[in-house]
Amino acid sequence: MGINEIDLHASLKKYFGFSQFKGLQENVVKNIVQGKNTFVIMPTGGGKSLCYQLPALMQEGTAIVVSPLIALMKNQVDAIRDVSSEIGVAHVLNSSLTKTEIKQVKNDVSSGVTKLLYVAPESLTKEEYVDFLQGEKISFVAVDEAHCISEWGHDFRPEYRNLKSIVGRLGDNIPLIALTATATPKVQEDIIKNLGITDAKVFKASFNRPNLYYEVRPKTQNVDGDIIRFIKQNSGKSGIIYCLSRKRVEELAQVLQVNGVSAVPYHAGLDGKTRSKHQDMFLMEDVDVVVATIAFGMGIDKPDVRFVIHHDIPKSIESYYQETGRAGRDGGEGHCLAFYSYKDVEKLEKFMSGKPVAEQEIGNALLQEIVGYAETSMSRRKFILHYFGEEFDEINGDGADMDDNTRNPKEKQEAKDDVVK
Ligand code: ADP
Ligand code: MG
Repeated sequence: MGINEIDLHASLKKYFGFSQFKGLQENVVKNIVQGKNTFVIMPTGGGKSLCYQLPALMQEGTAIVVSPLIALMKNQVDAIRDVSSEIGVAHVLNSSLTKTEIKQVKNDVSSGVTKLLYVAPESLTKEEYVDFLQGEKISFVAVDEAHCISEWGHDFRPEYRNLKSIVGRLGDNIPLIALTATATPKVQEDIIKNLGITDAKVFKASFNRPNLYYEVRPKTQNVDGDIIRFIKQNSGKSGIIYCLSRKRVEELAQVLQVNGVSAVPYHAGLDGKTRSKHQDMFLMEDVDVVVATIAFGMGIDKPDVRFVIHHDIPKSIESYYQETGRAGRDGGEGHCLAFYSYKDVEKLEKFMSGKPVAEQEIGNALLQEIVGYAETSMSRRKFILHYFGEEFDEINGDGADMDDNTRNPKEKQEAKDDVVK
């Protein structure tokens, strides 16, 4: 490959308008253009797409990008077309295309115009597409949201399990690139095993968010009052409150409104118009607070969310990390406050008891980890990062004093109580 650093930076500027790579991007891109299997683990917003888009644009042949959501694929295709003079540079191949459109896609791939071909995993299993792609020059296959391969991930898709054998049929030694924001060692093992990329070079960015403050408080009868007090102490700031049920979302939003907090509810039971109205009100700062189920947040990019409160314990550390990750995107303060009661854990366990046994086992194991987080007396940041397989120095690490346990160690607290007694 005759691609040097000058070419890399020139292409970065040409195609994306950026003058610098972010984090590990440059090394990832270099590894991919050398035709090697590559595994990229970066938090959401880390800039994973560019890691495969840039090599695809620079190389001969077509890169196949496997992605689970049509909407995600369409966004990416539009963005790539914007920066290229060729519409055919990127295509989505799926079942909603007309015969004429499919013919156009095939022509563009065969003539070498198409650099990025996005496909859903279930489309890639279609014989017709496999037949066609077998005759084409494929630069590499990128598997985005690769955690979908694992039952330990938060979005398991059985079709992802077939990718390895299909890629094998498309040609010999096609490099595989896996990308995910799920950092747990179990999921990573599954991905490597399932895609058969034991030789892949692994690029893992840190998941530490030093500007987030982590706190857990016991959940009492008066949790609503505690939440109102917290919001009043932080008046004028934007925040999200997550509740488990739609009913609780509605109730809490009302309680807040009655108490003079500008808040709106958000959950999947509201009609689409109301949902987007409430979302816009939050984004435009017509309201300070959105009370929501986990339906809220995908693709929400409000940089100055100052707090994320969990009225109920989430189902895993992974979910907690994703949901709290919406705070402090601008690098400013972000207070992550969870209310914890063991009764809620029992509720979640009961909820899972109707599910298949294998699913229950995984669900319960994940739940035990979040219980561990809630009950620990160690640095919460260290606990979260350890869960993601990352060592954290609780004395000198970035954000070392940014949690309740570190600021008010439990032993000292108890000792003080003893003295008072
Ligand atoms: P991920 O898939 O890891 O969640 P994305 O690929 O969607 O992240 O990128 C997140 C944001 O970062 C996008 O808005 C993208 O334009 C931006 N970005 C990516 N690389 C760079 C870069 N080198 N310089 C500046 N911004 C970048
Ligand atoms: Mg992405």
